Amino acid sequence: MVRIFDAHIHCSERPDDQLIAYARQNGLEYTLDELLQMMDEYSVASGLLLSPPLKHGSFLPNKEILKLCSRSRGRLHPIFTARPSKNYVAECIEEAKQNRDSLKGFKILLGYYKVYADDPVLDPLYDYAESEDLPVMFHTGDTATKSGSLVHSHPLTLDPLANRRPALKIVACHFGNPWIEEVAELIYKHTNVFADISGLCAGGSGTKSGNKYSYQYLEMLGRKLSDAIYYIGSAERILFGTDYPVETYSTALDLVGRLKVDEDDKQKILFLNAQEVFGIP
Ligand SMILES: [Zn+2]
Repeated sequence: MVRIFDAHIHCSERPDDQLIAYARQNGLEYTLDELLQMMDEYSVASGLLLSPPLKHGSFLPNKEILKLCSRSRGRLHPIFTARPSKNYVAECIEEAKQNRDSLKGFKILLGYYKVYADDPVLDPLYDYAESEDLPVMFHTGDTATKSGSLVHSHPLTLDPLANRRPALKIVACHFGNPWIEEVAELIYKHTNVFADISGLCAGGSGTKSGNKYSYQYLEMLGRKLSDAIYYIGSAERILFGTDYPVETYSTALDLVGRLKVDEDDKQKILFLNAQEVFGIP
């Protein structure tokens, strides 16, 4: 039986959550109950819960992520989002120390703040992540807001960090879309770089409710991701994710089905790679 781990999920149950617009496009209620029900429906064993962006430029506080995870009865594991400022980084490390048993990693939102991944302000967080062997996930590629900074979310900005910190587990979220080839090169070059394939079909693109080229877009993604795997030479460091509610389980799994790789590699992408990198039992 195919086991599935979703390495990229959002939820807040708050009216000021910016991802509500995507949820509506996908016909989703975007609640914890709905999420858990969908996970059952699609045989998703468990997943990582990340803060969604809120209106007025803030993000769901990490303590709210912990509450939702405990309500999920072990199905969701927390990832803490760290804002790139001295105080927030210190606070995030403190929260991480207090939740050492449950925390699975950190998230940095490149492109939403005008800061590069290798900015010294983030060094204390990287030191802690390395010492605890916790992966750091980075938003890479297109930003959900029109005011995002692509110069800062470009995946090649992870290269100096990976050069400087070979022991830090780095996850490029959304495979750097549209810079998929660049992420393939990062994974090929650095054994400590991983990438998730979440949120590539945002708000109905890739489905009937998208635009007239939606199916071609999904085909293109399947082709480009398959080519990325051939370039790297393996699927060992590629992780399945939805970015719920940005993308539905049916579209995310449709995309995996389009990858021209063998079943062993699909099982690695869907579960085994995440189990290894995030230490999932
Ligand atoms: Zn996300």
